[in-house]
Amino acid sequence: MPSSPDRTDLVVAVAVPVPGLGLLSYRASGPLPPPKGARVEVPVGGRTVVGGVVEPHAVPPEGTDLRDVLSVLDAEPFLPPGVVDLALWVAEYYAAGPGDTLAIAMPPSARRADGGGFRTAAMVTRAAPAPDQILRGPKQRAAIAMLDAASGELPLREMVRRGVSSATIQSLARVGQVVIRQEIVERDPFAGDVDGPWALAASAGLDRPLTEEQASALDVLRASADRRAFYTTLLHGVTGSGKTEIYLRLAAHVIAGRRQVLVLVPEIALTPALVGQFRAHFGARVAIQHSGLAAGERHDQWHRVRRGEVDVVVGTRSAVFAPFERLGLIIVDEEHEPSYKQEETPRYHARDVAVVRGRMAHALVVLGSATPSLESSTNVAAGRYGVLRLERRVGNRPLAAVRVVDMRKEMAGEGTPVTFSRALIEGIAARLDRREQSLVLLNRRGFATVIFCRQCGSSLECPHCSVNLTFHRAARRVRCHYCNYAASVPKYCGECGGEFLEQTGVGTERLEVELRERFPDARISRVDRDTVRRRGAIARILGAVGRGDIDIVVGTQMIAKGHDFPAVTLVGVVSADVGLGLADFRAGERTFQLLTQVVGRAGRGDAPGEAIVQTLYPDHYSVQAAAGQDYDAFFARESEFRRAMHYPPSLSMINVVVKGRTLDAAMRDAQSLADNVRQAKAGQVLGPAPAAIAKVKDEFRAQFFIKGTRRKAMREAIVAAVAARPDLRRRTIVDVDPVSVI
Ligand code: ADP
Ligand code: ZN
Repeated sequence: MPSSPDRTDLVVAVAVPVPGLGLLSYRASGPLPPPKGARVEVPVGGRTVVGGVVEPHAVPPEGTDLRDVLSVLDAEPFLPPGVVDLALWVAEYYAAGPGDTLAIAMPPSARRADGGGFRTAAMVTRAAPAPDQILRGPKQRAAIAMLDAASGELPLREMVRRGVSSATIQSLARVGQVVIRQEIVERDPFAGDVDGPWALAASAGLDRPLTEEQASALDVLRASADRRAFYTTLLHGVTGSGKTEIYLRLAAHVIAGRRQVLVLVPEIALTPALVGQFRAHFGARVAIQHSGLAAGERHDQWHRVRRGEVDVVVGTRSAVFAPFERLGLIIVDEEHEPSYKQEETPRYHARDVAVVRGRMAHALVVLGSATPSLESSTNVAAGRYGVLRLERRVGNRPLAAVRVVDMRKEMAGEGTPVTFSRALIEGIAARLDRREQSLVLLNRRGFATVIFCRQCGSSLECPHCSVNLTFHRAARRVRCHYCNYAASVPKYCGECGGEFLEQTGVGTERLEVELRERFPDARISRVDRDTVRRRGAIARILGAVGRGDIDIVVGTQMIAKGHDFPAVTLVGVVSADVGLGLADFRAGERTFQLLTQVVGRAGRGDAPGEAIVQTLYPDHYSVQAAAGQDYDAFFARESEFRRAMHYPPSLSMINVVVKGRTLDAAMRDAQSLADNVRQAKAGQVLGPAPAAIAKVKDEFRAQFFIKGTRRKAMREAIVAAVAARPDLRRRTIVDVDPVSVI
């Protein structure tokens, strides 16, 4: 029965954290109608969930009997209304549910009805004693002495830890000698982390002279920020050109104008210098947000931001939803990094969402990179973004000289497969002699990446995924890098029973072993997902490198990122080709970026740098352009390829993956969705076809692409197609602007 018209209740639209659900309407009849951004408890089916109000004066849907809001958790907006609008934009653009996107804008604790509160702790404070009060026993006197020594205040827990019983404290409270009260405690994510990555940062003031390029870029950016209107600029500066310094000074300028600054980084652990410098300059007015924080720390940081106690948030992708209300500047560092794309629902790209947030907040957006994404450079070419280029390194240090080694010739010369070229071995030996450091990159972990049978030629595959198992020698296991399946190393071929199993395909673990054999006295450290699993491990290794306690660092792409190690003078790339074989249209771009970034790690101190790049494809344009550190040549060539092949950013693309228990089932269901989308004539539909890795975790995957220029119509077509097949909703992934298509 519809609600009666004479009631003056409000109808509110609520985003609920139930995957795939749209906005729901409820009746709000309490004394205080909930404002936009407030959390409410509402019934969904037979459950009660915490949702967010996105529209406090919604139009009631016709002919439905509305259920009541059960309770209003916030009298004031929990989320700033601007963040609610951003979340709704993300939900629509990335074809996700509004509840899914609102949820990532909140700290995890906020999704529980009791989670809006704070962690509190009992504090004991010395009260002014009346003259006639006598301390009775030695215990009470000891407690009072302890408080007086601590300027009159200590957490109750701390006093108990130091041997005062809580009965003693209670008795002091009864006679008015002390006051006990509950206080909000903030958890400082830096506490206990003095030797962590943040300690690495030099706390140089903001007064050292800028290079000419830095100064003129900063002038332009300050002027842009002062216009207080939306604008996006690409800060395209070669590795070591001093982009961080520009970010810091621009941030200080914006903060001086009483506005706030959001800094996005791809991964906190891999950007210790940047995080540390912001911390050093802005102290407690900086909040750090990333998924590595404990839920409590995240909660506290978030509320500090919400209360306006923070000028700068430095964080990973979800920090794009930080609850600022006076945002003046958004910086996206290393804007080309694929980790800005979330690979689960909502599949948003934080860089692109940052630009939208800048537009909504009338803020300046700065995208920084030495190797800008094709998307951003295309936006520059089209006049949508401005660009500032820094062509020189600070101190006019030269970029590393790059030597490309053709491994086909090298192997022909040696007669057997070799891991290291002669040039690389000699280069490392020379660095050891001169007490300089070397970085050796191979973007593949494990010891051997393929185990195959010499009798029948088959290779050892994961039983749950269509990928080869990797041999990890230290663990004496074979492992799947997709589903983490692990097993002991088989003695016989599973196909033919043959006993001649051979290992090929070198990974970082094997590199480390081979380097130790060749250079037994060298101090060698390995950085990959196997060695930095424990919290703080990467910080320890990077710290040791920074102090000069390591001679050779071996690692995956983790070592290629923004570290600044002045003593590294040689970078070796064992195989530049690892990513090139992937069936991904971005393979060439990824390879160029990785090579350019890692080469950029060499020669950042006073001694010049050298890079040695080993490859089987010395003529590939990604390798060539990276060796020449020629971004423009790469961009021209890659843009041409994307246009010719109809790949983004020359047009828009949506990747649709349908999972099934068999490949046939997945293909059949994908076919029906694809047919439906084709009828909408919104764009070109390619496929379905089995995905490049057709089976992952025992699920088969069929895939099709929608390509075209009408992104909205394309998205509506696939959303409608999935809506028409509710049985497929849970098995279908819709990825708008995909970053990885395998
Ligand atoms: P990028 O991020 O562009 O690769 P960084 O910001 O890491 O470059 O800067 C490279 C190095 O140069 C860092 O050690 C930084 O402290 C230093 N640096 C930056 N600007 C200046 C300057 N104006 N004067 C002296 N050193 C600088
Ligand atoms: Zn697997």
